[in-house]
Amino acid sequence: MAHAVMAENISGAEDSLRVIVQKYGGSSVSTAAKMRAVAEMIKQVSPQNQVVVVVSAMGDSTDNLLELARQVGPALSLRELDMLLATGETVSAALLSLAIQSLGVKAVSLSASQSGIITNEVYSNARILEVRPDRIKKELAGGAVVVVPGFQGVTKQQEITTLGRGGSDTSAVAIAAALGATSCEIYTDVKGVYTADPRVVPEAIALSELGAGEMQELAWHGAQVVKAEAVEFARTNGVAVVVRSAFADGQGTFIPAEPAQSVYRPHRPEVAAVTGRKDLVRIRLDGSALTSPQRDEIFAALSKYDLIFGGLNGAGETSELFISNLEIPDPDAFAAELAPRFNGAVKLTGELGAVSLVGFGLGSRPAALLEALRVLEEEKVLLIKSFTGRESLTFVIPRPLVDASVKRLHRVFVESHEPVLQLNSPPFIRKTKGSNIVDTFELLESEVRYYCRDFPTVFTKGIGSRLFDEHGGEYLDFFSGAGTLNYGHNNPRLKRRLIEYLENDSITHSLDMATAVKREFLERFDSLILTPRRLQYKIQFCGPTGTNAVEAALKLARKATRRQNVIFFMNAYHGLSLGSLAVTGNASKRAVAGVPLHYTMPMPYDGDLGPNVNTLDYFEAFLQNPGSGMELPAAVIVETIQAEGGVKVASYEWLRRLEDLARRHGIVFIVDDIQVGCGRTGTFFSFEDAGLRPDMVCLSKAISGFGLPMALLLIRPELDVWQPGEHTGTFRGNNLAFATASEALAYWEDEAFADSILKKSELVARLLKETVDRHTEARGWVRGRGLIQGLGFDVKGLAQETARVAFERGLIIETSGARSEVVKLLPPLTIDEEDLRDGIARLNDSLTTALGRMELSRAAVSDGRACHSEASRFGE
Ligand code: PMP
Repeated sequence: MAHAVMAENISGAEDSLRVIVQKYGGSSVSTAAKMRAVAEMIKQVSPQNQVVVVVSAMGDSTDNLLELARQVGPALSLRELDMLLATGETVSAALLSLAIQSLGVKAVSLSASQSGIITNEVYSNARILEVRPDRIKKELAGGAVVVVPGFQGVTKQQEITTLGRGGSDTSAVAIAAALGATSCEIYTDVKGVYTADPRVVPEAIALSELGAGEMQELAWHGAQVVKAEAVEFARTNGVAVVVRSAFADGQGTFIPAEPAQSVYRPHRPEVAAVTGRKDLVRIRLDGSALTSPQRDEIFAALSKYDLIFGGLNGAGETSELFISNLEIPDPDAFAAELAPRFNGAVKLTGELGAVSLVGFGLGSRPAALLEALRVLEEEKVLLIKSFTGRESLTFVIPRPLVDASVKRLHRVFVESHEPVLQLNSPPFIRKTKGSNIVDTFELLESEVRYYCRDFPTVFTKGIGSRLFDEHGGEYLDFFSGAGTLNYGHNNPRLKRRLIEYLENDSITHSLDMATAVKREFLERFDSLILTPRRLQYKIQFCGPTGTNAVEAALKLARKATRRQNVIFFMNAYHGLSLGSLAVTGNASKRAVAGVPLHYTMPMPYDGDLGPNVNTLDYFEAFLQNPGSGMELPAAVIVETIQAEGGVKVASYEWLRRLEDLARRHGIVFIVDDIQVGCGRTGTFFSFEDAGLRPDMVCLSKAISGFGLPMALLLIRPELDVWQPGEHTGTFRGNNLAFATASEALAYWEDEAFADSILKKSELVARLLKETVDRHTEARGWVRGRGLIQGLGFDVKGLAQETARVAFERGLIIETSGARSEVVKLLPPLTIDEEDLRDGIARLNDSLTTALGRMELSRAAVSDGRACHSEASRFGE
């Protein structure tokens, strides 16, 4: 039941135990039985952690104390009221400590003074200035659970103060910050922070995560679940907060520590929540009717109130201030008192409220503002004033309309999930320097962006098999920039070569001029790769990316044979420019071609028709039967392993027969080695062990070894029928890439490198097999060759969920296959064994979690309880 969020160890503390700060609200400790249940929860986490518990007064006891104060006479002294109210938490702290002790766990309750909570001198609404946690640390070190009364502190003069309603939240966060804990758990009587008050909007759902900025605005604008000041404290002190129910299951709402808040989360609704408040009083000052001394007098009188919205304008202007009626309980009496003093220049209006939309960066989205105004107008809500905050839009409206407006806005902005920023929206305000990642990528980069959605953070560094993001996160990289970094990130040897190249003022443009470094690459590729394998090819440098090599191959094969048709295989992936797309299987990618994808024909790949069918029988039948309707193809293009297609591995025998068929019919035999070449399978070319000698080979991705764009086509010399410039372009010779590519070839100078890949690949295959055996319910399987391995599942959605969880656990990994059913491992070939094991262990854990989450989600859906986040995660 107790879901402890493990905070990191207290800063500077010698102990290795982690500190947990938990806060229990008044409703969680309202009876002795509930106290015992809370004590049980604390007992569960106490052995492995140092636990500080902050507790509120039991149930209605604060109200009861106030009532008693009223009964004894008019409460004139805020000091005495604070003395009185502070006892409520003292009682519950001592009782809870007794309850914990009765379970055999060492516990001690402390007063606010003993706990070192120092506040300013504002009775009834004090602010915490600092926490001196020496005594708490001492008790923790002695092995006790420390129970601290919330909601109060002491001034430097040892006067007791209280922190205002909800102040226990602030106490808990302040203590967590002082102890260096990175998170603080707030237990309450609801499941977490909802998209709206569920009593007003039954459709509201509990949010699993919310930015600290959003939470702060939500609290400020009326959501009562956590006090705004506590969130502000958490923000400024880097404390993560979890809000959850003490007695109901659920993960609650996670409010990350501030830096993590800026993590880019794709598909995030723009409006996280809607909230309302009904406590506003407007004070309007007619500046033109006030003398200067009157202005000073009224400003001084108002300065003691907390301003909710509004501001003061210059002399002669009208100003409007909105203040909570908790501060001005009787606006009529207040107005009656002010009117004669200021000749009617000060007017009060009560009975006001406000509705607010809260969402990241919402304040700078006029489109959302206009849409909200339209909705309120439709509802015939009289708008008194609107305000924009950094993460919020607020509309002051008549109090009786607040609930209906919250409902309506929730329906439009949260339930419908429609993006506010439509194409026809007015131009939005661009954030300048320092703007947040969400704004920058979401607002400025095209919707077509892809990998950044799978790995939603901003990366800053890469070293070997590790990536680092701007929040200090470290990731093991089993994706290697989509297979471009076979020699790891910033391989030192390649990096040195590149730096030297630049320092020598070498040629950096990419036109296909003759350069010294291009010659070096050609000669080294010939001597280190082609000659030892007794291969003879002319080398064509194509445009920067893989698909350019495929386009060149298809065009050249058609030119050389004067035929048009090209055979490709089901689930093939050869790139997304039109020619390559015509030989790519993926239906959704083909669907956006915009024109017919002609002059190609698909055939089943090895194994596509089950283990007992040799799919090449079909191809052969088509070729041999004059009535087949198939024109003799110009070329056949094949991947020895369909990497994007789900790590499907063709047998050597099948590949040899395909080559033979092509040869016998004069069809150009093209191997696309873009993803699985350059050592990925253990040999430089993926077809070496099969003994193939293709007519053309496409290479790209890892050929530069450094992630620099480079693509080339190897052409059997007789097929090199190009005329000069017939297929050219501006970026066909990336000289920077030639420099690193030449250097990378050094890895192939001796056989030890290939041997090391083989050894690592055996380890990977074995560990993955163990993973599959351990999780029989995942119905998994492993296939691949060398260091491209696929872990596939027959459970729908499991591979994707596993990859998603893996990212949360610091492992970058992608899925492939027509239904994204395979987790594809592409670690750098230079990775060491320890990192390999670590990555696979993370993958294994991620699978366990993914299975659990999917089970939960299924249960929720079948109960009809599926909430937004779950539905969007698993539903589509
Ligand atoms: N062929 C294969 C086998 C590939 O894996 C890819 C890229 N995934 C391509 C071609 C296309 O390369 P690019 O994305 O660089 O155009």
